[in-house]
Order: sequence, then structure tokens, then C-alpha cells
Amino acid sequence: MASPTIKLNSGYEMPQVGFGLWKVDNAVCADTVYNAIKAGYRLFDGACDYGNEKECGEGVARAIKEGIVKREELFIVSKLWQTFHDEDKVEPITRKQLADWQIDYFDLFLIHFPAALEYVDPSVRYPPGWFYDGKSEVRWSKTTLQQTWGAMEKLVDAGLARSIGISNYQAQSVYDNLLYARIRPATLQIEHHPYLQQPDLVNLAQKEGITVTAYSSFGPTGFMEIEDFRVKHAAPLMESPVIKEIATKHKKTPAQVLLRWATQRGLAVIPKTSRSEVMAQNLDSVNFNLDDGDLTKIAEMDLNIRFNKPTNYFSADKLF
Ligand code: NAD
Repeated sequence: MASPTIKLNSGYEMPQVGFGLWKVDNAVCADTVYNAIKAGYRLFDGACDYGNEKECGEGVARAIKEGIVKREELFIVSKLWQTFHDEDKVEPITRKQLADWQIDYFDLFLIHFPAALEYVDPSVRYPPGWFYDGKSEVRWSKTTLQQTWGAMEKLVDAGLARSIGISNYQAQSVYDNLLYARIRPATLQIEHHPYLQQPDLVNLAQKEGITVTAYSSFGPTGFMEIEDFRVKHAAPLMESPVIKEIATKHKKTPAQVLLRWATQRGLAVIPKTSRSEVMAQNLDSVNFNLDDGDLTKIAEMDLNIRFNKPTNYFSADKLF
């Protein structure tokens, strides 16, 4: 089972269903990537911050060596961490990340969050995370998003990234980017599930020809280990009576309904699992359609709850 593709504004085709790599343990990461390739995944969504790019690269290299896939059949996504926003830091860290993946270009490279942090040398700590001292001190950089975007565009010029994009931007920062972008963002990656639908942001991006990738399609399920009251109080989406009823009607699983809700509306998805049978199930989520009644019921589930925000991970006084 292969994923359908979406043509990006850069001209490249991107698989619509990919595989997420956040919180994939280093010990199992190479095998997970290798198994996901065997299951038919071609898009992998990584990041410096996930701390597992070397292991991801090992999984990819093994699959290529065994002839299961060719490099050009894969679509490898990674992200620029915030401590590398300064213009002169973007290319060197991209080269390091490429070396970790054992590849010479990213298919797509994203600005992970639209906020610059002070540089931390990789020899001091890698991945650097949020805190300058590794513990509690957040230091902002004065680099603007326009400066960072200019450095991202140079990655395309240098052949290190085929497409570039943005993540966790809101409408204002998307508008701002479009004022100065020489190369427009190919994708906008955002948290998107029935509890956080952000219809205006999705419409804006789609109207501007920017493909939206939904992350954390299963809502609170991806955030279970985070000590946050929003996660504790939000009912798991896969157990929602609305989602279960729609799933039963279409003879699909609730997870497949949650993924199809996004892909049917033109978004890409990047679910994550370590289980082979679940990998196959998630990839096989595009061959049915929700009807208008289903879409209306899911639209009514919007609570505007965001699970992925730094202040949910640590107290705000450490941030500001
Ligand atoms: P997710 O929404 O994919 O949920 C993962 C959880 O759901 C895991 O516990 C998994 O076991 C379970 N699961 C997966 N498929 C299932 C199925 N079919 N049935 C039952 N349970 C299932 O989690 P996520 O990791 O938050 O998001 C996916 C990816 O999005 C990440 O791995 C990462 O690549 C990306 N992401 C990006 C950002 C960003 O800031 N850009 C933030 C969060 C996530």
C-alpha cells in the first residue's frame, strides 16, 4: 500500500501519509524506520530536537542497502531547531543533520518554531533543547524570522533542501513570511485534530498554495506522558462516541477516521507508531470517504485546545 502524493508549490510530489519520528526511542528507532519503509512508508518526519536522526539514518541506510527502497523514492523531512536561527548557523547545522541521516539533501526542511533562541554549540549539547544551560535558562536570539528564512532559501540554492517550509506558525507570521519570501513555504506543519481544527489558518495556507501537514492527528494520545491538565481532561479521540460511530459506519478504525478527516480535506498526515500492524492500518487510511454528515459532526468537536505548546512542558517562569 503506497500513499497518494500531493504536488507542492516547489514542484515536488510529497506523500500524503507519512511517518512521525518524535519520541521514537533511540534504541528502537533504526528498526522502526526500517520496518516503516518495509510497510510502505516513504515520508519520514524528523527533527534535530527529536534527538534520533542518526538512528533514523541507520534505518534508511539499511533499507537502501538491502534494495528495499532507493533514496529518490523517499521523502525525508527535518527541521531547524531554534538555537540555529542565526543566519550563519543554518547551513552548518543542516549539513550536520544531513550527515546524521547519511543523505545529501532533505526533501523538505522546516523552521520548527517561529522563535529564535541563542546559539548553543553542538559540541556543548546536542540536541540543545529550549534551555541555554540545559536546565532552566531560556535565552532569546535577536535574529528575525525574515533573516532565518533568507538562510533557509539559501539551502535550496545550495541543493541541501529541495523544498522549505514552516511549522507552528499562526496566520500573522504566515502573512509576514509571504511579504518577503523569495521562495514561498511549500508546507505549513501544525497541530491539527478535532479538538484543534484552526479552520482559518488552514484556509489561509491552502488559499496561498501552502500544503498543510497535520501533526498529532490523534490529539491527546500523542501527549500522554506530559503532566498537563489539558491532556488529562481531554477524552481520548479514539474513544469518542462520535468518532467511533463514524468508524463503525465505514468499517474502519477510529484512527483511520481521524487521519482520513485530514487527508480528505487536502492535508498531509504523519502518524507515529512502533507496531507493524498499526503502521499498515494508518497508511491504509485513504481509500474511503467521510460524508457531509460525518464532517459536520467532527467540525462540532472543535474545542480549540492546544496540547503542543512549550508552556505545557515547563512552567512559564522558566520561559520568560
Ligand atoms: P500521534 O498523533 O501520531 O499519536 C501517537 C500515539 O498514537 C502513539 O501513542 C501511538 O502508539 C498511537 N497510535 C498511532 N496509531 C494508532 C492507531 N492506529 N491506533 C491506536 N493508537 C495509535 O503523535 P505525535 O507523535 O504527537 O504526532 C505525530 C508526528 O507529528 C510526530 O511524531 C512528529 O513527527 C510530528 N510532530 C511535529 C511537531 C512540530 O512541532 N512540528 C509537534 C508534534 C509532532
